[in-house]
Amino acid sequence: MKKILVTGVLGQDGANMCEFLLKDPNNRIFGMVRRVSNPNYINCEGFLDHPNFQICYGDLTDELSLAKLVREIQPDYFINFAANSYVACSWDMPLHVFDVNTSGVIRCLEAIKNFQPNCRFYSAGSSEEFGNVNYSPQDMNHPMKPRSPYGASKCAAHHIVKVYRESYDMFAVHGVLFNHEGTKRGEEFVTRKITKGVAKIYNRIKCVDNWRGRHGEPAKFDAIELGNLDSKRDWSDSEDFVEGVWLMLNQDEPKDYLLASGEAHSIREFVEKAFEVADFHGHWDGEGESEKYIDSGGPHKYTLVKINPDFYRPAEVDILLGDPKKAIEELGWKPKNSFDSLVRKMVQWDIELDREKNRAKKATEPRMG
Ligand code: GDP
Repeated sequence: MKKILVTGVLGQDGANMCEFLLKDPNNRIFGMVRRVSNPNYINCEGFLDHPNFQICYGDLTDELSLAKLVREIQPDYFINFAANSYVACSWDMPLHVFDVNTSGVIRCLEAIKNFQPNCRFYSAGSSEEFGNVNYSPQDMNHPMKPRSPYGASKCAAHHIVKVYRESYDMFAVHGVLFNHEGTKRGEEFVTRKITKGVAKIYNRIKCVDNWRGRHGEPAKFDAIELGNLDSKRDWSDSEDFVEGVWLMLNQDEPKDYLLASGEAHSIREFVEKAFEVADFHGHWDGEGESEKYIDSGGPHKYTLVKINPDFYRPAEVDILLGDPKKAIEELGWKPKNSFDSLVRKMVQWDIELDREKNRAKKATEPRMG
């Protein structure tokens, strides 16, 4: 039986990692969560009752809790997905970002060094470490040039993992993961914000208001509000990435790798693809802050997307594009999902989720008359 301590299990990657690991009956998972007043276990619904899964309490800002968990569980693997992970918010709370994302990694490493030095450690890095890039695609030789407190915190974590690995002969690796999304993605990230928005609009126009929308008054809904449409990201499916992380943890010698799709798409392209999946045909109109994405299909010329400058960032990363060759060749990693299949999966999921929400809302509405 392998004992695996996973942090960040309420988030996308932690939950996907647990789902993946629980397919092997020889894995016993300890999912670490922070104590908060209103925890949201929605990403864990599929495995919360699994006999090989157990929730335990701890916090990356509390070294005593980490030391206690490592001492008591004696894990074979420690996979750290807990983080303050939203780039835009990292300007608002830079010290907290460093406390969790950098000092938190030191606390994990110290707990392992002191109480279970044979435990293999994974640290979640980010393409934001490359930031203001010198060349594309980026590989592991690309210099670290972060553009946000978040990116800087992950660079420091990257360095400290290497320092502990070399100083104490620990099996500690730091994976540089390019953007990865899916149906468990937080709604503040641009992909999920778009697919949730598309789903809402689809259900308003194509279903709920179909009759009125086509022949009478236009349907009422809020357009999706976005910031910079021109940045490009290398998006993959988080479910593919957790498999890559597990391969990194099971190499003979600890070595850092980069996971990416090797394709970059702009936010604009993501918007177009997401609406296309929902059977909308649109076009861009206007420029700068007045730019809009307009529905070209029906009589109403709905505005589907508009710009809200509040979503511009103090400093932007214009393009991230990774070269995953090494991970594919040396680890035998095989990503299964394409950009198109990822967008399709997210939009279809969100349409269904939004429908269920509307059904549940209707069922609780008081009957009048
Ligand atoms: P990141 O790459 O980790 O920062 O992932 P995000 O999904 O948060 O952002 C990806 C890109 O989308 C960045 O270049 C953002 O500036 C851009 N973007 C444009 N509009 C929005 C928005 O409304 N929300 C977010 N999160 N990002 C946006």
